[in-house]
Amino acid sequence: MVADDASPDNVFDVIVIGGGPAGENAAQYAIAGSARTAAIVEHELLGGECSYWACMPSKALLRPIEVAHTARNLSGIVKPVAIDAAELLRRRDSWAAHYSDAGQVRWAEKAGISVIRGRGTVSGERQVRVAGSDGERMLVAREAVVIATGTTAAVPAALADLQPWTSRDATAVKEVPESLVIVGGGVVACEAATWMAGLGCAVTMVVRGTVLSNFDPEVGERVTAGLRAAGVDVRTGATVAASRRDPVGATEVGRPRGTPVAMEVDGETITAAEILVATGRRPAVNDLGLETVGVDDPHELSGVDWLYAVGDASFGPELTHWGKYQARLVGDEIAARAEGRAGPSAPRDVPVPQVIFTDPEVAAVGLTADQARERGIGTTVVEVEFSSVAGAMLLRDDAAGFARLVIDTARNTVLGATFVGPSVGELIHSATVAIVGRVPIDVLWHAVPSYPTAAEVWLRLLEKLRGIG
Ligand SMILES: Cc1cc2nc3c(=O)[nH]c(=O)nc-3n(C[C@H](O)[C@H](O)[C@H](O)COP(=O)(O)OP(=O)(O)OC[C@H]3O[C@@H](n4cnc5c(N)ncnc54)[C@H](O)[C@@H]3O)c2cc1C
Repeated sequence: MVADDASPDNVFDVIVIGGGPAGENAAQYAIAGSARTAAIVEHELLGGECSYWACMPSKALLRPIEVAHTARNLSGIVKPVAIDAAELLRRRDSWAAHYSDAGQVRWAEKAGISVIRGRGTVSGERQVRVAGSDGERMLVAREAVVIATGTTAAVPAALADLQPWTSRDATAVKEVPESLVIVGGGVVACEAATWMAGLGCAVTMVVRGTVLSNFDPEVGERVTAGLRAAGVDVRTGATVAASRRDPVGATEVGRPRGTPVAMEVDGETITAAEILVATGRRPAVNDLGLETVGVDDPHELSGVDWLYAVGDASFGPELTHWGKYQARLVGDEIAARAEGRAGPSAPRDVPVPQVIFTDPEVAAVGLTADQARERGIGTTVVEVEFSSVAGAMLLRDDAAGFARLVIDTARNTVLGATFVGPSVGELIHSATVAIVGRVPIDVLWHAVPSYPTAAEVWLRLLEKLRGIG
């Protein structure tokens, strides 16, 4: 329903609130190949957290450090090996597009998507209010409104007074502090510890439980060992009694605040030049005006047939590729409805892959053995060490890690895979394909891995299943 008084400039077929990777994909797929129109409302930079303060800069920071670690572990052949921090940060800046979204705006325009600057809220049926620097604008969507507002860092109240760094400061680091205490043991904490230590910072991690506790315990153990080998002081099972910091003024993102922090951890005082709180993120769905259309719980939008949520704002796995996958489905669905044809069909239980760019690298997809058991699925678990694979050992002298497959015993297909070791991020897609394709193990026998590559770990796993080796 379009309000009669809406100016044509303010009417679009689809309006997306939030221009991160998920919002961009939803808008693109909703109108692709048609003359229909879409607008993205964005209050910071088009491209979202991922492009400027998350995936892109963090991986740009981590890659040279991984290369240096590898070079140092090649029998002393590559010399000298040193990180040039200034050059590394310059390369990071260029991967973060120098914090300008001009390129993304060009992409949107080419895709036929209008970019509207300002903070968007739902203000009624198919209506979006945009509060921008030049005033307010009321938009109307003929077909659909998509919420793609992402997440913001969740800083516990007890630590907020310390004016800590969040992941934005760590990925946009401009001056490397002498020392850093990281609170948290999840993916962001582990990756940030890796690049900050690689940049020469003395890093202490304060972890309430264990490192990477959402994964199989061996994953956390291997990554903890890798962090310690890189000089990170990892304190697990830690209890913070008190934290102090003299009041500090606001500084630019990525610059240390200039006043040290003191933390009482298990009876010991840890002091550091800066503190990074990486204790999780929260979907940015409060104050979005959802109550104006009868939505009291942002987890539950299904009662409103023109409203969708994609990406981190949908409370699903907080991963760019997952948000983009969801957004492609939602975009296709909106397009199909507009064109009066059947919407996309997706298989049930699409597995979620994830790569953690620590050293050793971690890659996992699908179900763990415990998750399969909780679903009542009978499993066979097979595991081998990476040291059994020549192609992995050739990559670096200290190549270590393991590969584990969780197999559905009755169906003889792969349910899940966990790989820890060198280059496993590039290996995981083979497991994803095997799971989605429900490829029987007997058929996997004929997928011959090239010699000598790390992918030969698949052969070792299948041999172990047959009791060979
Ligand atoms: C340090 C770090 C590293 C990461 N590394 C990886 C990785 O390697 N791989 C991976 O898959 N994932 C990674 N992630 C997760 C990934 O960044 C997110 O899953 C991804 O950015 C989610 O995309 P999104 O489009 O849902 O939201 P975002 O990228 O958060 O984009 C949301 C956009 O909405 C805008 N917005 C919010 N509210 C409004 C409003 N009311 N009006 C207008 N605009 C609004 C925001 O400004 C933002 O641009 C990482 C996260 C962090 C913090």
